[in-house]
Amino acid sequence: MPRPDLLQRLAVQTAERERASLRRRLHTIDRVDGPWLESGNRRLLSFCGNDYLGLAQHPQLVAALLRAAGEEGVGSTSAHLICGHRHVHAALEEALAAWTGRERALLFSTGYMANLGVLQALLARGDVCVQDKLNHACLLDGARLSGAELKRYPHADVNAAARQLAARPDAAALLATDGVFSMDGDVAPLRELAQLCAHERATLMVDDAHGLGVFGTRGAGSLDAAKLGQHDVPLLMATLGKALGCSGAFVAGPAALIEGLVQFARPYIYTTAMPPALAAAALEAVQLAQSETWRREKLAALITRFRRGAAELGLPLAPSPSAIQPLLLGGADAALAAAQALERHGLLVTAIRPPTVPAGQARLRITLSAAHEEAHVDRLLAVLETLHLPSAPRAPGGDHV
Ligand SMILES: *Cc1c(COP(=O)(O)O)cnc(C)c1O
Repeated sequence: MPRPDLLQRLAVQTAERERASLRRRLHTIDRVDGPWLESGNRRLLSFCGNDYLGLAQHPQLVAALLRAAGEEGVGSTSAHLICGHRHVHAALEEALAAWTGRERALLFSTGYMANLGVLQALLARGDVCVQDKLNHACLLDGARLSGAELKRYPHADVNAAARQLAARPDAAALLATDGVFSMDGDVAPLRELAQLCAHERATLMVDDAHGLGVFGTRGAGSLDAAKLGQHDVPLLMATLGKALGCSGAFVAGPAALIEGLVQFARPYIYTTAMPPALAAAALEAVQLAQSETWRREKLAALITRFRRGAAELGLPLAPSPSAIQPLLLGGADAALAAAQALERHGLLVTAIRPPTVPAGQARLRITLSAAHEEAHVDRLLAVLETLHLPSAPRAPGGDHV
């Protein structure tokens, strides 16, 4: 056998995706104006961003970023542990810890890296990592990287998680779950999971990328909404690139945990610190997300309006209380065709297809934002009505990997 050619193998895999309607394509966006995007001379109303509070273009964020860049320059010039950790990073970490009711917080450059860092620092071969099957890809990747045994329980099935933990009573155990599931929009059974972890002496980690800013008092997130403190959930991770309209992420929890991450989380140690100007913008975003309650209220009203309208039209809505409102269409072709039809009507909604979601569960992932208006939601509903989508939500497919 001759040695296989890696680039050729990749090209074959890409061609297979094309045939299965699973090829992903980049769209270049020329201009952004709130929920409006311009691409190739077309103006599209977007329902696919994660700027849930409408902060990404807020003038105060932009001003904070420019001011800080003027003072500190663009790049941080090194990793946090060398000389990249500036006063504004420290101030942002303090604000995030106070907001989420945790002792300390630690910034990471992205949420993906934060999850890799936490799991790789905490877990080792011989440990067990129990995860919801629908967790974000980076939680799964982090567990694989750690060498721990990864066990995935059916979505939101606390009893199955309990069995998986009970099967390894002597192993150090971490249970990790999304707070709000990124492709389904539903909230994890956080209180039950916290109880289970307390009973099993397992450590609970919650990735609240889509809950921070949206749920809880002053937007403190899904854990605040579920009244779970640091004692119940020692590991909270959330991102700055969704409701906060910036980029980056943080882990918050007990001081000793954070100190351990500084020592051992490789994606924290061996990477350039987030640009200080971005930290300055994020600090502004944290303050706005806390104080401008009207953004959360407006978002909640738009979610209610969309759900009511979609239910009246008999659309295949998923049971989601969050800004993520998927319409479950089943096949990848159906989801792609619906997204293309919406785009012809000037609406941008992403078709989410396998492998991001299990086979047979392709969907339109509609996201709402405080930057939308009621008229935008009404327009989306009016166009959806013309598409003749299947009405009943598909049963969850169960055991997909
Ligand atoms: C977006 C997301 C991440 C990754 O965060 P980035 O900062 O975009 O890398 C992690 N977890 C969940 C649940 C997410 O939705």
